[in-house]
Amino acid sequence: MIATETLVMSLEAVAAVRLNESMRLHTSFRIGGPADIYVVAESVRQLREAVQIARRHEAPVFILGKGSNLLVDDAGIRGVVIENRSGRRGYAVQGTEVRVSSGVSLSSLARRTALAGLEGLEWAIGVPGTVGGAVVCSAGAYGGSMADVVRQVEVLSDASAVRSLEAASVGFGYRQSVFKKEGPTGSVILTADLALRRGKAEVLKARLARYASHRRSHQPKEPSAGSIFKNPQGYAAGWLIEQVGLKGRRIGDAQISPVHANFIVNLGHATAADVMSLIVMARDKVREQFSIGLEREIEIVGPDTGSKV
Ligand SMILES: Cc1cc2nc3c(=O)[nH]c(=O)nc-3n(C[C@H](O)[C@H](O)[C@H](O)COP(=O)(O)OP(=O)(O)OC[C@H]3O[C@@H](n4cnc5c(N)ncnc54)[C@H](O)[C@@H]3O)c2cc1C
Repeated sequence: MIATETLVMSLEAVAAVRLNESMRLHTSFRIGGPADIYVVAESVRQLREAVQIARRHEAPVFILGKGSNLLVDDAGIRGVVIENRSGRRGYAVQGTEVRVSSGVSLSSLARRTALAGLEGLEWAIGVPGTVGGAVVCSAGAYGGSMADVVRQVEVLSDASAVRSLEAASVGFGYRQSVFKKEGPTGSVILTADLALRRGKAEVLKARLARYASHRRSHQPKEPSAGSIFKNPQGYAAGWLIEQVGLKGRRIGDAQISPVHANFIVNLGHATAADVMSLIVMARDKVREQFSIGLEREIEIVGPDTGSKV
């Protein structure tokens, strides 16, 4: 526990703080040990100030969106976890340009913009993350991705200065961005500017319904973190895992989903260790039988993640 009284008091002056908060409550996997200091930032200002305070105290910081791409270690996270709920102001529209706080739910933004006749985010319906997390992870689905719509992001740099970054500097790739490479000691995304297009609300609404229904019928309903592995060139990771006979394999309460083999689900009380064992097993078997190295899509967050350089 690195919490010092002055750090906690300084954080409490800008946002709500909880100590030893279980990360199970804040990850889509429903897995993870305690965060030493858990801060809830309800606005971009609170997010910025909380990060600046933690950095001033040289405490490790981890920015949490909706925790939907994470496997948090059973030992939890040392230092300060800042949950980004900035988004009270929702988003501002000017023509087809949208400026949005990074803590806004991507899926709800997709629904709201589509219903307002703005095209470009329909693919994101059902992606359970924040706009900030989606930029970092370069989220995408159904042929669309953040790279298609992000024009600019405003970030708090590692030197704690607010600056704007053009999309070209974000380095969007397949579930990759410069922010992902920087890790927790890098930039914090504050807002994003998106360029959408004019569309017909009824057409966009039908597209939303189609994608949502496809997700319902092709993805498991139990808690998960989405796809565990990236799809290697020419293959679907789920197909490879199925071919090596691991679909449905269970360790403790973690299971390679019988619905979609690239998802691991939590059947109730799965631990991060259970999930890790399945990840290693799937990776080993696929390497053995196909000579293909599966690369993880989900991020593993351990006790020392926040301080890793
Ligand atoms: C059922 C299910 C379906 C999914 N389907 C898809 C899909 O179709 N396509 C897809 O791409 N993904 C999918 N995902 C994965 C996940 O939803 C996305 O990767 C999402 O973009 C993660 O956002 P988040 O807010 O949950 O980020 P988190 O998981 O909270 O964080 C992810 C990373 O981003 C960092 N981060 C978050 N916010 C900020 C910020 N403001 N500034 C700096 N760093 C930040 C975190 O520190 C962490 O490193 C799915 C997940 C689930 C559970």
